[in-house]
Amino acid sequence: MIPAKFDYKPAQSKEEALSLLAEYGDDAKLLAGGHSLLPLMKLRLATPEVVVDIGSVDDLSYITDKGDVIAIGALTKHRQVEQSDILKEHVPLLAHSASHVGDPQVRNRGTIGGSLCHGDPASDLPAAILATRATLVISGPSGDRTVTSDDFFTDFWETEVKEDELLTEILIPKCTGEKWGFQKFNRRAQDWAIVGCAVQGGDNPGIGMVNMGSTPVRAAEAENALRSGSSSEEVAELADSGLTPPTDIHGNESYRRHLAKILVQRALDN
Ligand SMILES: Cc1cc2nc3c(=O)[nH]c(=O)nc-3n(C[C@H](O)[C@H](O)[C@H](O)COP(=O)(O)OP(=O)(O)OC[C@H]3O[C@@H](n4cnc5c(N)ncnc54)[C@H](O)[C@@H]3O)c2cc1C
Repeated sequence: MIPAKFDYKPAQSKEEALSLLAEYGDDAKLLAGGHSLLPLMKLRLATPEVVVDIGSVDDLSYITDKGDVIAIGALTKHRQVEQSDILKEHVPLLAHSASHVGDPQVRNRGTIGGSLCHGDPASDLPAAILATRATLVISGPSGDRTVTSDDFFTDFWETEVKEDELLTEILIPKCTGEKWGFQKFNRRAQDWAIVGCAVQGGDNPGIGMVNMGSTPVRAAEAENALRSGSSSEEVAELADSGLTPPTDIHGNESYRRHLAKILVQRALDN
């Protein structure tokens, strides 16, 4: 439970963080809220030689209305997302999903960027990001680039963010419909989801699933059914279609398929 020895390098700005990443390459790891990285370091599943702390880069912590989209800085804490009036009005699914992350201590420390960059299929916010069809802004040595949420999660605990880059901003289109819902099935309050789902209706509906694959995934066939006006039963019946949920000590594949259908129907009907 004690991390391997590492050097600690605090960064005060995005530019300083990028320059430290350029200097130390794949020996370095970014630290935001530390709520996923530090447990991994304690278990020695991550052994970075250098930890670049971006937790004090305040200008990457904001929620701004930019017209058609809401822009969220990568270092915005879960608690700020949960309590944001802008998000409650324009992307209520995301604000509500953030209220389901861990407990108040976790939400006061963890950041939306850290949650997305950790790329854990069991995390709640990636599903909401998929459902809202967000775009992610990644900054690197040659400037900024954008990636859709569909392309962001590349493998188990892997994302599009390269070793010399950092996620800086999340751009979320304003919700155009009334219908949205987040459902999380866990054994005890504040546990991680055994299965979860984030559902948003409107012009371009989205359904993001928690713990239904090796990455955060979209329930594409159910989304198509939602788009074509199918009933909530018909949409829910397709919630696991094309997905390969894992089997672990909390539930096997068929149990997760069963849960996915029930949760998507609840999210649509509530
Ligand atoms: C007790 C406990 C319970 C939890 N329960 C839940 C839960 O129910 N649901 C849930 O979804 N999550 C849960 N979490 C995880 C929590 O949401 C974390 O806050 C989140 O996963 C990581 O955010 P962080 O800011 O702490 O990132 P960190 O741990 O600092 O970083 C995570 C990873 O992302 C990288 N990274 C961080 N920021 C950036 C960036 N801007 N650009 C590029 N890379 C970056 C880091 O290098 C690291 O690899 C829980 C955590 C704990 C400790």
